[in-house]
Amino acid sequence: MGDHDGPADCIFCAIVAGQAPARVVHETDDTLAFLDINPITEGHSLVIPKAHATDLHDIGPDDLAATARSAKQVAALLTERLGCDGINLLHATGVAAWQTVFHLHIHVLPRVDGDLAFPFPIRGSSADDLDALHRRIVGG
Ligand code: 5GP
Ligand code: ZN
Repeated sequence: MGDHDGPADCIFCAIVAGQAPARVVHETDDTLAFLDINPITEGHSLVIPKAHATDLHDIGPDDLAATARSAKQVAALLTERLGCDGINLLHATGVAAWQTVFHLHIHVLPRVDGDLAFPFPIRGSSADDLDALHRRIVGG
């Protein structure tokens, strides 16, 4: 989409096209899932739509739904095969959110008890601040 030029400028499009290698763990007509080359946890996989979309703003609802469905299936596959205790689904849209590959993907992270420290400090907020924020978001 946009000024995107296919496998020549997108590593995940190159994987879909068979022009770059990947350890594929799951595939449907519209999606592909493969092991992350630099895993955070054992079995860390990425689920992508085959059709290029940059991020959550760019992707259409059908491709997003297909990608989410595949993420559920990959979570089940990894749980069955690796015997993990839990799953995190992570997604990044935008550099500020740590996106580094600009072809939408959902990270599927198999988790075992005690493997990672919780990475996000709790911000905290007063009820008044939450009320003001709520008005900013929904209007009124
Ligand atoms: P992001 O930071 O955009 O949410 O995540 C991008 C992910 O893609 C990273 O976890 C990174 O390790 C992974 N990645 C980048 N290039 C490749 C590649 O060529 N092959 C595979 N399998 N994973 C990649
Ligand atoms: Zn792409």
